[in-house]
Amino acid sequence: MRIVVGSGKGGTGKTFLSVNLFCFLEEQGIPVSFADCDVEEPNADLFLKGEVKSVETVFQNLPVIDTAACTFCGKCHDYCAFNAIMFIKNLEYISISEELCHDCGACLYACEFDAISEKKKELGKVRIMQSTKGNRIVDGLTNIGVYSGVRVIKSAVKKLENQGVEILDAPPGTSCPFVTTASFGDYVILVTEPTWFGLNDLKLAVETVRGMKKEFGVVINRAGDGEDPVSDYLKKEGIELLAKIPFDHKIAKWYSEGKIPVLESSDLHKIFYEIQRKLKI
Ligand code: SF4
Ligand code: SF4
Repeated sequence: MRIVVGSGKGGTGKTFLSVNLFCFLEEQGIPVSFADCDVEEPNADLFLKGEVKSVETVFQNLPVIDTAACTFCGKCHDYCAFNAIMFIKNLEYISISEELCHDCGACLYACEFDAISEKKKELGKVRIMQSTKGNRIVDGLTNIGVYSGVRVIKSAVKKLENQGVEILDAPPGTSCPFVTTASFGDYVILVTEPTWFGLNDLKLAVETVRGMKKEFGVVINRAGDGEDPVSDYLKKEGIELLAKIPFDHKIAKWYSEGKIPVLESSDLHKIFYEIQRKLKI
């Protein structure tokens, strides 16, 4: 089973939830693996101390046009479904947009004049680690200046290799990197806060996962006694509330010290047991 943990925005406790869920399942001897797919700012390794087994570089093939050999026929431009080739026939101008190129190879196939070759562009790295209990932890890091982390995310997820329950810590927000990560999931946990801001971002995330026809539920983090517009919304929309994690100074302190709160607190243990039960793990 693949569980994706996401949130409509950063800072809601998404990594807290995914890291604690991983350690909670691991503690019970359940085979589990973890991928930090927040590839612009991975930080799960602050809490999950794995031994690094290997580091792999993620590349993209980029077409390069030899303008001396190019006849400016425009066929590659017609073949490119991603509008990645800028072509102005009367000016004999042609160039590739690295940001838009999807490395599909269609332009190479199209060119009859051998005017297109390929170069490799480094996009980032994927680290494969092993936890002290022998489970796999993977994280991806996109190089600075790389337009999209999607390819690094895909490489990281591939490295999990179906090792038990797979937990994917998704990038925050609802843009492409989140959608890519969520597309791998059997179930999506959306983490939010019980505030109007939290609700606003949660609604966007709900819309996205509903559009993807993914099964999902919500965890309300830092719940208190005050106003809770999120619970009302979940009831109205018939969305499963997986758990409410109360705001607790002790939890915040353990977490800030790099400790795993679910391994320290029996109350939190019960909450994660409830999440496990609802997810039928
Ligand atoms: S590799 Fe594909 S996406 Fe990239 S420029 Fe060529 S046709 Fe377009
Ligand atoms: S298909 Fe080849 S020759 Fe034609 S415009 Fe593209 S690169 Fe130039």
